Amino acid sequence: MIGTEENPLRVAIVGSGPAGFYTADHILKHEGTHAEVDMFDRLPTPYGLVRFGVAPDHPKIKSVIRVYEKTAARPEFRFFGNVEVGMDVTAEELRDRYHAIVFAYGTSVDRHLGIPGEDLPGSHSATEFVNWYNAHPDFADREFDLSCERVVVIGNGNVAADVARMLALPREELEGTDTADHAIEALAACGVKEILVLGRRGPAQAAFTNPEVRELGEMVDADIDVDPGEMDLDELSRAWLDSDDADPTNRRNVDIFTEFSQREPEGKNKRIVMRFLRSPVEIQGDGRVERIVVAKNELQRDDSGRLRAVDTGERETIDCGLVLRSIGYKGIPIDGIPFDERRGLIHNDGGRVHDGEGEQVPGLYAVGWIKRGPSGVIGTNKKDAHETVAKLFADLESGKVPEAPLADDRGAIEALLSERKPDHVTFEGWQAIDAAEVEAGKPHGRPRIKFCRVHELVEASKATKTAA
Ligand code: FAD
Repeated sequence: MIGTEENPLRVAIVGSGPAGFYTADHILKHEGTHAEVDMFDRLPTPYGLVRFGVAPDHPKIKSVIRVYEKTAARPEFRFFGNVEVGMDVTAEELRDRYHAIVFAYGTSVDRHLGIPGEDLPGSHSATEFVNWYNAHPDFADREFDLSCERVVVIGNGNVAADVARMLALPREELEGTDTADHAIEALAACGVKEILVLGRRGPAQAAFTNPEVRELGEMVDADIDVDPGEMDLDELSRAWLDSDDADPTNRRNVDIFTEFSQREPEGKNKRIVMRFLRSPVEIQGDGRVERIVVAKNELQRDDSGRLRAVDTGERETIDCGLVLRSIGYKGIPIDGIPFDERRGLIHNDGGRVHDGEGEQVPGLYAVGWIKRGPSGVIGTNKKDAHETVAKLFADLESGKVPEAPLADDRGAIEALLSERKPDHVTFEGWQAIDAAEVEAGKPHGRPRIKFCRVHELVEASKATKTAA
């Protein structure tokens, strides 16, 4: 029987972001089952978007890591960083060594606008920019031309708000954060005067949460600019806000935007301009971004009752030197795992992986953004992990979790990794990296100074081994 002291349930979790950690926690706390969890991440560092997504000026949000550290401290938990599943080890090799695999590898690729000029130099996805300022090793060498006066940010979600704020922070504020050193220099010296944030639909439908909107009006070095004319809401938006379909968040956003629209500029160095009912239709320039053409939209109700942005045919051309597109993410497939290309997610039903036709693939599960798509805050993944883990234990109970030929040998994965990826990073290795980063930050009054290259991270991970 799987899940006993003699034959513990052995689970591999692919990805060490919030979804992966909540899953590990739920599995290891499940009463009456002996379980062991091995977590893999393609990067030497754990925590996914908590390290590489959450904005550096929001350090409190990152304190959720304390919860994950408690999970990692359990003797039944192991971390194998710097191991990419699908590249360094295959999903099939994991299936031989674990009774169950939970895919928690997030949605790392940006969706495209599909408009002419999108690939011109100077047009980037917000992900590239976010990863760059957060010291993601894959993006350390990216360069962004911040000498232009106007940057256009496309999108009305919290990532767009993060990006707008980061472009508006003065050096003193950046220097108190764990922003990558290369980004602090570039951002502090940047010539940007205006950050123009464009939303496809109206202020009532913007996806920002309230604190993120409020913060845009509290910047030390940037005025906020909302056109009062745009706060004169169309009838459909008004009716929708009064209906039960609207969220309190939407209503409060409208109140905050309205207050912004009544402000007089204070003459700060920069300004964040919010414009609604605008969709980009072309990015233009001679060899690089020089301007963007946007369509003016109006809202119409579609057959399902949803308010959609519809192009009115009116056009506006706006000069700019940089475009950052923040319109959503999708996942990428791992060889051999059923994948829904259209949605960019693993085929699954409440976390149980199926073959795309509804037939369950025994022993495979999904959680977090690769399961349900890129929405929700960190805490959303806790509930989501609960659902997936409940499915896993229900399957265990009904005998649907398959035996695996090498699952009785806890050392089998280490034997494989010593061949394939001898420089993999354990949790102890991560703690050495963490200590070195924090130490490096101390003399500068910073929470940490992040290493931004894989070889530096791997080197730092070896400190404990050398000391021991
Ligand atoms: P992720 O956090 O993306 O973790 C996936 C992990 O899988 C990564 O560590 C990745 O390296 C690893 N991985 C990928 N491929 C492989 C592979 N083949 N093999 C092994 N490992 C792999 N939420 C908040 O509550 N507050 C915020 O302030 C906030 N800010 C955000 C800012 C940005 C820019 C973004 C994009 C999101 C933000 N969120 C925020 C949302 C939050 O980060 C997500 O809800 C959460 O991170 C999703 O968790 P996840 O575990 O599914 O994915």
